[in-house]
Amino acid sequence: VRTHRPGLLDGLDPEQRAAAVAPRGPVCVLAGAGTGKTRTITHRIAHLVGAGHVAAGQVLAVTFTTRAAGEMRTRLRALGVEGAQALTFHAAARRQLRYFWPRVIGDRPWDLLEGKLRLVGQAANRAGLGTEPELLRDLASEIEWAKASLVSPEDYPAVAARAQRDSPAAPPQVAEVYRAYEKLKNSAQVLDFDDLLLHTTAILEEHGEVAREFRDRYRCFIVDEYQDVTPLQQRLLDAWLGGRDDLTVVGDANQTIYSFGGASPRPLLEFTRRFPEATVVRLERDYRSTPQVVELANKVIGAARNRPAGSRLRLLGQRPPGPEPRFAEFEDEPTEAAAVAARIRALLDSGVAASGIAILYRVNAQSEVYEQALTEAGVPYLVRGGERFFDRREIRQAMASLRTAAADPPPTELVTAVRSVLSRVGLTEQPPPGGTAKERWDALLSLVEVAEELAATVEGADLPRYVAELEQRAAAQHPPTVEGVTLASLHAAKGLEWDAVFLVGLAEGTVPILHADGDGEAIEEERRLFYVGVTRAKEHLWLSWSLSRHPGGKRHRRRSRFLYGLLPEHHPAARAPRGQPSRGAAKPRCRICGGPVLDTMEIKLGRCRRCPSNVDEELLDRLKEWRGTRAKELKVPPFVVFTDATLIAI
Ligand code: ATP
Ligand code: MG
Repeated sequence: VRTHRPGLLDGLDPEQRAAAVAPRGPVCVLAGAGTGKTRTITHRIAHLVGAGHVAAGQVLAVTFTTRAAGEMRTRLRALGVEGAQALTFHAAARRQLRYFWPRVIGDRPWDLLEGKLRLVGQAANRAGLGTEPELLRDLASEIEWAKASLVSPEDYPAVAARAQRDSPAAPPQVAEVYRAYEKLKNSAQVLDFDDLLLHTTAILEEHGEVAREFRDRYRCFIVDEYQDVTPLQQRLLDAWLGGRDDLTVVGDANQTIYSFGGASPRPLLEFTRRFPEATVVRLERDYRSTPQVVELANKVIGAARNRPAGSRLRLLGQRPPGPEPRFAEFEDEPTEAAAVAARIRALLDSGVAASGIAILYRVNAQSEVYEQALTEAGVPYLVRGGERFFDRREIRQAMASLRTAAADPPPTELVTAVRSVLSRVGLTEQPPPGGTAKERWDALLSLVEVAEELAATVEGADLPRYVAELEQRAAAQHPPTVEGVTLASLHAAKGLEWDAVFLVGLAEGTVPILHADGDGEAIEEERRLFYVGVTRAKEHLWLSWSLSRHPGGKRHRRRSRFLYGLLPEHHPAARAPRGQPSRGAAKPRCRICGGPVLDTMEIKLGRCRRCPSNVDEELLDRLKEWRGTRAKELKVPPFVVFTDATLIAI
């Protein structure tokens, strides 16, 4: 195989390599977490570019979160690829809109909407609905769902009924709010995030010459995390392709975590139906995590229900064994947070880098107690909300001041000038003690670090040059690094990895989230989210929960149902739930759902018959097919399969 860099493909296993060197045309990689999907596609890009099949500038790689896109760019740079675009769908659409809007619509594109809830509030008011923040948030996300699902206000009531949506108000009223919101937004000449995709799609679909120019420019499309594509994103992708088939997709249906927002793994699972000639690769070897973490991950996802065919992959750990995952139960949240902070301190002291550690939680509101505990323990951290570095308020203010100062640059070398400008937007000499103020300070300080870096590398670098550098980084969404422990929601952690991962707040009502209860599909999505969390850990995995929120509060929480069957038997928390009369020996319980087991067969299985076993279902299907066939004819050695308690022999 001709490739620009000898040895480029050495870092791939045979299956990964097959996907990386597949000829141009449709390629689909279906594989579990940590099996090297992202690695495979970055190598594929490097190979295609290196071997001259495509120019770097003709490659457009897209993914879903800013961090994942940043991660892809980092990996591409490390492979020596310059000029290939790796962006989120939204960033790609925003760029294209900026380029084509003046030609097609005239003037420059409208600004992005700020203060969405305010606008939704006005719309709700017009529709005669209340304006409680909770309701407005629900209405806003329902409108987002509708737009991502390509459902118009007119169609909303019928579709909502068909999809059995749990609408925040009567569907006709939601439709009215949706319609009013669109109207208000248009008359204010602003765009929301979904509009970026909608307008770009419409321009490409309706303006042949624009589409031709675009299709001349981009020839090779790659989508990471394809299991979370929405109908709107798929439509944009189709507009990009315009009937061509140079598309590589990679994904893991077990990591679909945005179906509440309209995403669906169906395009991934049905890829070969659409492109029968596609190269399909499955990966099973997990290179990210220790076998202990891999085993836990297999158990978590093995207990999932209704897994579609094609998603029943089992991960095979490749790394040497590491520490056992830790499970810990606490009285209240501050105690849990303090214990996490203490454990992180110990990891830092043992040489683990702060950037290799993450605390992951279900909802952003959980971060506060951890911020406090980390501050008290003197551990630097950064919170990864949805906010991007250059969209942060203090960074926007800083950029505005820096631009003004650059127009009339002071005579002072560069770092002093930057410090002096930044001191006006809140960069004090000494860091504030902690909390979000400290985080803002750290963000501003990282701007000083960029100045220091520039001053050290570019001779005579001045303020205008520095501002240009920042603008460039902002456009490339390549934020400066702020060193610290990452605090992030499980959703934001997708695709990323850390040496040590702390999954916290694993109590019923949080994981799974309260409003998922009673909804089978929603519970499964929560389970997948938990699976995403577990599979972020390379080495150290900590799982904790607390029984009450505040110290001295009533203990009314139970640990997450997803933990059943994961806790080692000797673990104190693995005993029967508290408050049960301890008459004689504890009654045997199902190790998956924790419910009672009823008869001797169930006791033998160690689970109730309502719960699935952890056996590889795909293998079982195959075994059923093969039953009765002689081993000789199967061309595989006769084998036996042990599940936890049953034995199937051929
Ligand atoms: P996710 O589903 O979480 O996005 P992924 O399938 O994209 O995971 P990667 O992030 O590409 O997995 O890879 C996981 C880790 O394993 C990375 O650190 C990567 O560098 C490493 N890795 C992948 N393939 C190999 C390999 N063949 N040899 C050594 N390390 C590998
Ligand atoms: Mg990945």
